[in-house]
Amino acid sequence: MCICVNCQFVDRCIAYYQVETSHQKPHQNLSPDFQPRQPQIRVHRQPAQMEFDIVNCGSFQAQENLSNV
Ligand code: SF4
Repeated sequence: MCICVNCQFVDRCIAYYQVETSHQKPHQNLSPDFQPRQPQIRVHRQPAQMEFDIVNCGSFQAQENLSNV
């Protein structure tokens, strides 16, 4: 599972933009401006395409509404 959905930078992140592209999802932001530090990507090979998930990242910051759960 991609950790980005719980990260406060998800709507600005250049790496997550690529994840959205690989999953053929609409982009939250067409001009992401945040470069994450050392995102680790897991590649899922599908018959017709490849999908990416971020599994670790040096810039991950939990969204505030999730950090107290
Ligand atoms: S975890 Fe890293 S790659 Fe994912 S949205 Fe946050 S900063 Fe970007």
